[in-house]
Amino acid sequence: MIKAWGVKGPKQPLEPYEYAPGPLGAEEVEIAVESCGICHSDLSIINNEWGISTYPVVPGREVIGRVVAIGPQAKGVTVGQPVGVGWGAASCMHCHQCLSGDQNLCTQNVPTIVGHKGGFADRLRVQWPWAIPLPEGLNKADAGPLLCGGTTVFGPLLVFGVKPTDRVGVVGIGGLGHLALKFAKAWGCEVTGFASTDAKADEARSFGAHHVVNRERKATFVISRARSISCL
Ligand SMILES: [Zn+2]
Ligand SMILES: [Zn+2]
Repeated sequence: MIKAWGVKGPKQPLEPYEYAPGPLGAEEVEIAVESCGICHSDLSIINNEWGISTYPVVPGREVIGRVVAIGPQAKGVTVGQPVGVGWGAASCMHCHQCLSGDQNLCTQNVPTIVGHKGGFADRLRVQWPWAIPLPEGLNKADAGPLLCGGTTVFGPLLVFGVKPTDRVGVVGIGGLGHLALKFAKAWGCEVTGFASTDAKADEARSFGAHHVVNRERKATFVISRARSISCL
């Protein structure tokens, strides 16, 4: 039995919940959960805000753990390997999207916490490509949000081909924004954080922003050309 925390319906409290996962699927891996982030999408699915929840819901889709079992057709990971699981838990692996590296857009994509049991549990199972290998020694509690907010802000850097010589502005220094600042700084960009309070401005500087525009100070700014932002 897998021991989890689940909810029976919208607005219900999380309660201990056990389920029998059945035989391990041929392409599945089983993961012993070591840490799991908490995302607002967990709340959205718990409360059926998007109308797609299937109860009982076991939330948790910023999962960090180790592989403990591998199905006979599973590839790419080994028992004992540290892995992470984000929004997706399975896809068809033969459509155009899956074969183009856009498997998150597969029409048969199985979200980790919709019609599937997530990582607020001692174990969970996913199709092997969705158990993302992680380096040893990563701080587990820090690593979870990289699978959600982290991928969300890393995506635009990749899709828009942001170069280390570019200047990047990050609007909003919250859960996503602070990761965006750190990524852009680490990539070598000249980074400007747009904050709404003095405290957020200080945070932006501590996360590595070269410049900070603090709206509380009524600073003005202009977008001087596409993909670059100048402060006045
Ligand atoms: Zn999240
Ligand atoms: Zn597919």
